[in-house]
Amino acid sequence: MGETRHTRVLIIGSGPAGYTAAVYSARAMLNPILVQGLQPGGQLTITTEVENWPGDTHVQGPDLMVRMQAHAEAMGAEVISDYISSLDLSSRPFTAKADSGTTFTADAVILATGAQAKWLGLPSEEKFKGFGVSACATCDGFFYRGKEVVVIGGGNTAVEEALFLTNFATKVTLIHRRDSLRAEKIMQDRLFKHPKVEVLWNHSVTEVLGDETPLGVTAVRATHVETGKTTDIPCAGFFVAIGHAPASELVKDQLELHNGGSVKVEPGSTRTSIPGVFAAGDLTDHIYRQAVTSAGMGCMAALDAEKFLAGH
Ligand code: FAD
Ligand code: NAP
Repeated sequence: MGETRHTRVLIIGSGPAGYTAAVYSARAMLNPILVQGLQPGGQLTITTEVENWPGDTHVQGPDLMVRMQAHAEAMGAEVISDYISSLDLSSRPFTAKADSGTTFTADAVILATGAQAKWLGLPSEEKFKGFGVSACATCDGFFYRGKEVVVIGGGNTAVEEALFLTNFATKVTLIHRRDSLRAEKIMQDRLFKHPKVEVLWNHSVTEVLGDETPLGVTAVRATHVETGKTTDIPCAGFFVAIGHAPASELVKDQLELHNGGSVKVEPGSTRTSIPGVFAAGDLTDHIYRQAVTSAGMGCMAALDAEKFLAGH
């Protein structure tokens, strides 16, 4: 059996929401413990340039997250490399069990588990995951030097991934199911001007095609959303960038959720349906989903937790 540790505030997640909550609750002398999870630093560690973090015209996502961790630790937060595998919110103190065997008990919990990439759900996508199918151009783009790739999606992530892949690939085809993108206009402008990029509108990807030995992608089958006509687009890499789903698995049977799995909070606060449990960042926000808004909600969660603890 592992050890049991008690903390006033347990923060689960190490993205902008978690680290900001840690800075604020450490400065409130609450000696928070933050558990990082499997992706220390969160989603920004799988991107390159971040151009909209106030105060930095350009900053590398992973560098920004290293700075946020250092800031939280400098203020007195304890940052632990572990993963919370179960959480019991039925009575106070709340109990969280970690993969290492440690049990945390906490007077207040701040949930900042963010979101994870969504997949199309095709059997062939599953088959070629890691063998040509990826959800992270920053991680895997380098493997496609001198080759053709396809990206699916129409949001900021898809456009960013497509532009990033032009650094390696000879051609990048962006497939989108509608005839307009939802990405920011400045990003669209860059995409449309890029000589290596072609956009295939009004298509979905219905199959990933490839070789068995060695296992690898050779093309994707694109299907016109209205006519049903199919076109095979040759490529060595297929990048899925169709958004992210909130990581609410730990609490899905304990807290009220809405909008496809986001943790519901009282408007204008981070209070969930259980007193003493707060949620911040992409886990609760299905609209803005930005680093700066996540950080803002992390601040709110720490202030809400401080107020709750003062009253108990
Ligand atoms: P996340 O960053 O998702 O972090 C979640 C954290 O929770 C992770 O540390 C994970 O390890 C942890 N966790 C999950 N489950 C557990 C568990 N059970 N136990 C312990 N820990 C757990 N936004 C911008 O503002 N500007 C950008 O340029 C930008 N670029 C982006 C590029 C890409 C490719 C992507 C995917 C997103 C981008 N975003 C950008 C969006 C931004 O990254 C997110 O809005 C932000 O990271 C959300 O922060 P968060 O703290 O809510 O969660
Ligand atoms: P998103 O904005 O939700 O966009 C998802 C895209 O995928 C949409 O275009 C959607 O099409 C498409 N899509 C969804 N399901 C699909 C399916 N099954 N098949 C085909 N296409 C599908 O997600 P995101 O691009 O990952 O962005 C998430 C958040 O992070 C956003 O708030 C974004 O602003 C933020 N972000 C910001 C930056 C930045 O600021 N530079 C960079 C990356 C991400 P429809 O358009 O038809 O719905």
